[in-house]
Amino acid sequence: MARAVRRAFKYRFYPSAEQACELARTFGCVRRVYNMALQARTEAWTLRQERVNYNATSALLTGWKKTEELAFLNEVSSVPLQQALRHLQVAFTNFWAKRAKYPTFKSKKRSRRSAEYTTSAFQYRDGRLTLAKMTEPLNIVWSRPLPEGASPSTVTVSQDAAGRWFVSLLCLDVIEQVPATGAVGIDAGLDSLLTLSTGEKITNPRHERADRARLARAQRELARKEKGSANRAKARLKVARVHARITDRRRDHLHKLSTRLVRENQTIVIEDLTVRNMVKNHHLARAVSDAAWRQLRTLLEYKVDWYGRALVVVDRWFPSSKLCSACGALAERMPLHVRSWTCRCGQTHDRDVNAAGNILAEGLSVIACGDGVRPQRESSRTGQSSAKQEPPRVTKGIPVLL
Ligand SMILES: [Zn+2]
Repeated sequence: MARAVRRAFKYRFYPSAEQACELARTFGCVRRVYNMALQARTEAWTLRQERVNYNATSALLTGWKKTEELAFLNEVSSVPLQQALRHLQVAFTNFWAKRAKYPTFKSKKRSRRSAEYTTSAFQYRDGRLTLAKMTEPLNIVWSRPLPEGASPSTVTVSQDAAGRWFVSLLCLDVIEQVPATGAVGIDAGLDSLLTLSTGEKITNPRHERADRARLARAQRELARKEKGSANRAKARLKVARVHARITDRRRDHLHKLSTRLVRENQTIVIEDLTVRNMVKNHHLARAVSDAAWRQLRTLLEYKVDWYGRALVVVDRWFPSSKLCSACGALAERMPLHVRSWTCRCGQTHDRDVNAAGNILAEGLSVIACGDGVRPQRESSRTGQSSAKQEPPRVTKGIPVLL
């Protein structure tokens, strides 16, 4: 079976001075329009309890363009400005559906600089992409081919904190859904990034430790520089570059990993770690591994959909570490430093492999019983409800293939 999916392909590009200038202006206008529309919607709601929808903000934009002080909005392509209003609409829809917090203003320094172009605002022909208001195509590094005969429906241009330019092309792609029979439970760890119920341990990407030390050093240097000085700006760019490298490598690693897990297994069971994150822990390693875990979950969520697999998320209260996967007895305490333990039944466990095995068993029982119904054995183990199947989630944003 094959399935057509919308998939984003992201590449670096090197703009000419003119193009960089045009894009920087467009980013500025996108931010301005987004912020003004957000303010208008917020005021309408707080002062008059009125809901302002996308069409109303679109009419506002037309009005703003006619004023003298905002006439500069006419100088850039109108499509990214309209798209900014659509993004704001999505942000509000997610807020009302309780999937996200109230939208916040885009900051000049901290927010992602990006602009989205739909088909009327770009031309794509023979591997050459030209954006509205530009005469020359972008100089794109085609690090991998687009799908055969693909024509992008949306193009997003962005610049990261390290100053690098990216273009992301949304295309239709066909995924071959090859059946798989495996089922795997995954435990998120600290020593190893993940432990699988098969006993396999997956480590963090190589170099990550060294990169992290480099990042800490760059951050210390930045802290010593005088505010507003040229050296401080240089130090900030250095921090951004190291940071970009860490996140790039990590994303690459997680993409390969999630694709492999989804190809090999029909059922993947993970633990919901939301509450674990609420336990305050300022340890850098913990924060980093939690971020990786969230990212992996997002990748798994859309890839199981692409490949026709099942992802089961078991409840965070489920005592996966303390439960003997052989006999079901519950150990009393299991401090973090205990890496392996022996149950009263005589079975010796690797802590993480045992936990992953329990997560798998829990997930499979959730599938067997359907929503909310639990087998007797499970509830007698813990005395509390410990499993649920996540409702299908709306995929926010567009997954990016790297
Ligand atoms: Zn046991």
